[in-house]
Amino acid sequence: MSLVFDVSANPQAASAADREQILANPGFGTNFTDHMAKTVWTSDGGWGDAAIVPYGPIQLDPAAAVLHYAQEIFEGLKAYRHADGSIWLFRPDQNAQRLQRSAARLALPALSVEDFIGSITALVEVDQDWVPSGGETSLYLRPFMFASEAFLGVRPSKEVTYLLIASPAGAYFSGGVKPVSIWITDTYSRAGRGGTGAAKCGGNYASSLLAQTEAASRGCDQVLFADSVEGKWLEELGGMNVYLVTNAGELITPELNGNILEGVTRDSILQLAADAGLTPVERKVSIEELLRGVGDGAIREVFACGTAAVVTPIGSFKDLAGEYTVGAGEVGEVTAAIRQQLLDIQYGRAEDRYDWMQRI
Ligand code: PMP
Repeated sequence: MSLVFDVSANPQAASAADREQILANPGFGTNFTDHMAKTVWTSDGGWGDAAIVPYGPIQLDPAAAVLHYAQEIFEGLKAYRHADGSIWLFRPDQNAQRLQRSAARLALPALSVEDFIGSITALVEVDQDWVPSGGETSLYLRPFMFASEAFLGVRPSKEVTYLLIASPAGAYFSGGVKPVSIWITDTYSRAGRGGTGAAKCGGNYASSLLAQTEAASRGCDQVLFADSVEGKWLEELGGMNVYLVTNAGELITPELNGNILEGVTRDSILQLAADAGLTPVERKVSIEELLRGVGDGAIREVFACGTAAVVTPIGSFKDLAGEYTVGAGEVGEVTAAIRQQLLDIQYGRAEDRYDWMQRI
């Protein structure tokens, strides 16, 4: 039986004027809507107490397992307002399924696809005035699940809390799309063999922070991780997958190896590529091949992709040996076209030929 999110306790928190002021310049991740969705799982009773409740601080016992052993997973997706005012989600079933895979890896309970989407629908309906319109704005949705049992033993928690919060988001590139610079770290790994690289768990991000700091100290915007066994194969950025565009018309992305996060954007681009006359290829790519190709021009464009920025051009790479400019360091043609195709589908400006959009 599916959960019904009780929407009876839903006082409006922000005034319409405050909300309009935030929506005029939403930024990212600092403002939240009036409500959140909640449901709690117990090993005895399964999921229950589903409700839309006022957004606000939560009470957590200091012994809650998540605070000690990081048994936690999350998701990230967006609600888009179309020109006619309607609100849509982009492939939410994919995020639901990834949350289930992450849950399995972190010994957390599965939330059904129906309940995952049900929580989003219930929250966005109540907080629909918070979905911005215009430009590349959206309502960023952050579902997450954590071990809330107060117990210091190391074992899967017998109580788990699922929450969904929402945050209005402005255009990622407000001043126009700009290529980013990438530091190739050989100091840090993101994921070890048999580890949690393919799961969207908080611990992966905690361990990437120092590598990101290292990238910044090298004057780069983001960090690229190689595999942890040989330190040779390209995996992904701290929060985005990577694609190479070759002169031969191939669109290459590192194959899924259990360490890379299976991005919804990555998967969507694999499908779009074939339609755009490019050959999508999933295979191992070595850092050496990447830098050689960038150097001799066989790799024309490189871009990163993920929900937040959709498609981000990569203008240059840096490692201990030197710096390598991709093409002319500008936004490439294929990168721009794929970015536009995805945005046009998400914002309802192009036909949804893959049946990716789901109306709230
Ligand atoms: N890799 C990592 C490590 C990420 O955190 C994300 C963002 N979820 C991605 C890739 C891209 O995934 P998606 O396209 O589903 O946002």
